[in-house]
Amino acid sequence: MHVARILIVEDNELNRDMLSRRLIRRGYQVDLAENGQLGVDLATELKPDLVLMDMSLPVMDGWEATRCLKAAPDTAGIPIIALTAHAMAADRDRAMEAGCDDYDSKPVDLPRLLEKIAKLLPSESGQES
Ligand code: MN
Repeated sequence: MHVARILIVEDNELNRDMLSRRLIRRGYQVDLAENGQLGVDLATELKPDLVLMDMSLPVMDGWEATRCLKAAPDTAGIPIIALTAHAMAADRDRAMEAGCDDYDSKPVDLPRLLEKIAKLLPSESGQES
């Protein structure tokens, strides 16, 4: 069975470690990037099945990184879920306008996020049940 590969782009070390541990425990393969530029580079190199994109990031923010990935034919098909600390409708709209496929707010509600991840992953991949 294909193990789904998720790239977490998040500059906060605590959030990054916690989220990656929880996803690994659920059977996902996880890669990490700590700024938007590294996120674009790693997504281009690794072709993950899905990207979890913090929006507030150093070097290149999550909106720009998302636009870069969605503009490149190699990475345009990779689903991106935006994560922001602000649960405001305007943030959601801004993330979707940048090309994100879904949106969730931090702190992460894991069951809710896992549902969104599963919905966007190709059906043959994902957690083992
Ligand atoms: Mn951040």
